[in-house]
Amino acid sequence: MKRALFEEDHEQFRELAAEFNSREISGKYAQWEKDHQIPREVWRSAGENGLLGLAVPEEFGGMGIDDYRFRVVLDEEFVRSGHLAVALALHLHDDLVLPYLLAYGSQDLKSRWLPRFVDGSTITSCAFTEPGAGSDLRGVRTKAMRDGEDWLISGQKTFIGNGAHGDAALVLARTDGETSRAGAESFSLFLVERSEGYSNGQPFDKMGLRASDTAELFFDEVRVSDADRIGEVGQGLRYVKEQLPQARLALAVAASAICTAAFEQAHEHASNRSTFGQALTEYQNTRFELADLKTESHVTQSFVDRAVLAFNDGELSESEAAEVKLWASESAKRLTDRALQLHGGYGYIMEYPIAQSFTASRLLTIFGGTSEIMRETIGRAL
Ligand SMILES: Cc1cc2nc3c(=O)[nH]c(=O)nc-3n(C[C@H](O)[C@H](O)[C@H](O)COP(=O)(O)OP(=O)(O)OC[C@H]3O[C@@H](n4cnc5c(N)ncnc54)[C@H](O)[C@@H]3O)c2cc1C
Repeated sequence: MKRALFEEDHEQFRELAAEFNSREISGKYAQWEKDHQIPREVWRSAGENGLLGLAVPEEFGGMGIDDYRFRVVLDEEFVRSGHLAVALALHLHDDLVLPYLLAYGSQDLKSRWLPRFVDGSTITSCAFTEPGAGSDLRGVRTKAMRDGEDWLISGQKTFIGNGAHGDAALVLARTDGETSRAGAESFSLFLVERSEGYSNGQPFDKMGLRASDTAELFFDEVRVSDADRIGEVGQGLRYVKEQLPQARLALAVAASAICTAAFEQAHEHASNRSTFGQALTEYQNTRFELADLKTESHVTQSFVDRAVLAFNDGELSESEAAEVKLWASESAKRLTDRALQLHGGYGYIMEYPIAQSFTASRLLTIFGGTSEIMRETIGRAL
């Protein structure tokens, strides 16, 4: 069955992304995994090549592309080439921070921030999670207190992607001044630039996706202008809820690309590896495994493609996004495990792409809302 998602423009964009990928990333990525860092000049180059902030309007330096299929192309190119941490780093910048600036930022905020966002000179992170608040964001304790025309932000965030090397963070903070249990209108969003009082821990030693740095952030009375508040005071949690479909769809897209790659990697390995005098593909068990991998990756891709089109039409609901994230991320976890098994011992060695896919997919049922929270969301909407 021919895939019906893409048109000519998307395929042209794929060539651009593939060319960037091989010129700027291939051959260097293994070192970035050791350094826990994607070099800053790569962000600049991605910006110069028009790969950042695709949805930013032309008046702010972007291309104003509101067709999510272009983001899918980019994700697929990075995932299939095994550059999974690059996909994640760009996802944080483009899918988790940008939508808030576009949807709720003032004209002044957009004109100051978006050009830097698009050209790669400012790397952003999305700082919601705290040591005491992951699935349940009402547990957020980071506080923003009024100080004249400004705000003073104090608190701690954890597991923040692009946290160690980022220049600014989208911070969810409590603005009701209370210490008791928070309500729906207790939180607001701020774009906080690295300045006095803003620091980070060392990147965490993650099991996978190591080139994308993940770190704690500390805010000690960081002064933030009211002009860098995003949207209305007290509406932070509502905005987070409204942006969940894109955040979850993005992870489903990456998960689906991982499923496809897992099949391809297993197929290639099994075709080239012999035991007892015959190729692995001569064994019925191997063929059955490959048949399952191929079929399940196609099912996942079809579901995700449909969700992408629904999102483009403004029709992907929160619970549908949860379904597609749940399905695709659990599939990626299952399929990479089975594909790894077909690699034997080689599957356990990180220089093999399947080992990278396996560890990356393990994050996808946790990050951006766990599978249990996805089931809660779907169940509540029944
Ligand atoms: C590598 C990595 C990168 C990350 N990047 C970012 C980032 O850039 N920005 C950011 O803000 N966050 C980030 N996170 C945080 C991530 O989104 C959270 O880890 C995730 O939301 C889960 O929160 P938690 O770790 O506090 O787990 P908890 O909320 O403590 O959950 C623990 C377990 O309890 C289950 N559970 C919790 N509540 C319920 C319930 N109501 N019903 C049933 N089961 C439940 C969960 O499903 C899970 O299995 C990242 C995490 C990792 C590991």
